[in-house]
Amino acid sequence: MNKTALVTGASRGIGRAIAQALAEEGFAVACFARDREKLEQTAALIESAGGKASVHTGDVSSDDDLENLVREVVAEHGSVDVLVNNAGITEGAPASKISPQRFREVLEVNLVAPYVLSRAVQPVMKEHGGGVIINISSVYASQGVANNSPYCTSKAGLEGMTRALAREWIKDGIRVIGVAPGFVRTDMVADAFGGTEVEKLVVSRIPMKRFGEAEEIGNFVAFLATAKAGFVTGETLVIDGGQRSLL
Ligand code: NAP
Repeated sequence: MNKTALVTGASRGIGRAIAQALAEEGFAVACFARDREKLEQTAALIESAGGKASVHTGDVSSDDDLENLVREVVAEHGSVDVLVNNAGITEGAPASKISPQRFREVLEVNLVAPYVLSRAVQPVMKEHGGGVIINISSVYASQGVANNSPYCTSKAGLEGMTRALAREWIKDGIRVIGVAPGFVRTDMVADAFGGTEVEKLVVSRIPMKRFGEAEEIGNFVAFLATAKAGFVTGETLVIDGGQRSLL
């Protein structure tokens, strides 16, 4: 296969696992985030398993960084066949304690950046006969969760954007899909309640009685990126150990 996947937030957590799983499917993987050292670790893991990876640094909340990123990846790999909008941040606090500025920052990273980057890759995908854009949402997009309003808002917006762009770009052979994980063992979850009594309570409420592993999300995303999932578009698919529907 001679196809390239671009993954944002590939320096750790779910993004790193997605990058590794896409490389296992045969994609050359362009890894983007701010932390060069950790991105190089991701690339080394991919290369030691026989895959191909490149490292690109920048901030998803900078339109210029995203435009440069697409230029760099096309110059190095010739195309962008798969884009995974994975980079994300959260802000756990009551709405009364979150400033409008912070609300905007979360939306910039989680919602505006996927829009800017999707717009930047669309002409490249169209020119190459199609592609796949996968937006990493969250079960919080469709659950009412207290003390997480910017995050919930951003992910609900991302799912609306997924449906809208899927409809708009289907004529260009571009599938746009969402993936909504439940709790997955990464820094984001460790920072929120790692090792506390709250963590035990959260796990006890998941029907499978465990957090997901980043690899489980990576494998699911990599499957959706291939022609095996060629009839899937517009939908956001939940992967959460039963958290949303079996409670
Ligand atoms: P994580 O461990 O905190 O990693 C976040 C990633 O996003 C890092 O690679 C980080 O890289 C990158 N990132 C953050 N801000 C960035 C910015 N301004 N510019 C560029 N890159 C940026 O998070 P995770 O748990 O793997 O989450 C990945 C995605 O899955 C997010 O969209 C998250 O909302 C979603 N998700 C996670 C869970 C969960 O339970 N973990 C559940 C549902 C959905 P640098 O710091 O190197 O820039």
